Amino acid sequence: MDNSSIYEVFAIRYASLPGRNASENFTGGDPHEAGSDLDYYVWLARSGSRTFVVDTGFDPAVGTRRGRRMSTPPDEGLRRLGVDAATVKDVIITHLHYDHVGNFGLFPAASFHLQDDEMAYATGRHMSEKFFSQAYEVDEVVAMVREVYKGRVRFHDGDAELAPGLSLHRIGGHTRGMQAVRIRTRAGWIVLASDASHLYANMNETRPFPIVYDVPRMVEGYRRLRELADSPELIVPGHDPLVMRRYPSAGAGLEGIAVRLDHRPG
Ligand SMILES: [Zn+2]
Repeated sequence: MDNSSIYEVFAIRYASLPGRNASENFTGGDPHEAGSDLDYYVWLARSGSRTFVVDTGFDPAVGTRRGRRMSTPPDEGLRRLGVDAATVKDVIITHLHYDHVGNFGLFPAASFHLQDDEMAYATGRHMSEKFFSQAYEVDEVVAMVREVYKGRVRFHDGDAELAPGLSLHRIGGHTRGMQAVRIRTRAGWIVLASDASHLYANMNETRPFPIVYDVPRMVEGYRRLRELADSPELIVPGHDPLVMRRYPSAGAGLEGIAVRLDHRPG
């Protein structure tokens, strides 16, 4: 195995949401928990030859309107890891929710990797119901449609290898075209679940997140994530504050901002 297919992987925390109720994160709530906070991340995977950014975070104005405040702009977090957003060629969009696609304008040189099912879902019949549309921003979905017409969206249908050591896997569940990313690292195959599991507890205790398109598929997705990772602790959930505690800081001055994921978590 040559080094060009072993990746360094980072989680960059760009926002936090304290004071959330457990019923907002677990179907049926949880009588034992008073609160259940969320963190917001974008991810970076780089090898000797390739750089992939996974998701782009929420737009600051959209975040403010929705009661979320940005702590570190994603492009600044990337810059501090030595990556210029303006030159990144590959951006993976796990799904089109506002907190995953909001800043895609920061990546003028990139292709956007997206599942066919996600674009179909975000522009199709279910969006006339607020239950399904609430986490999408229509202006962002329309803007991504414009990118399709410019030839900048690379569609995938199910599993796809983007480079040796890095592949996409449609999980569905949370949204119809939700995809996870499997990455080869020195710690083994890790999986960026994104919102296939918001928190460790969603997948580990089979308590589905309440913003959902298809509950059986979401639950089946937990099993699929375990199948894709070399071991269950190498799955990285999409919004869990514990990620910042279980993994080491990405370097001096990055405490609380970025952690290194190509480690066995502590
Ligand atoms: Zn989502």
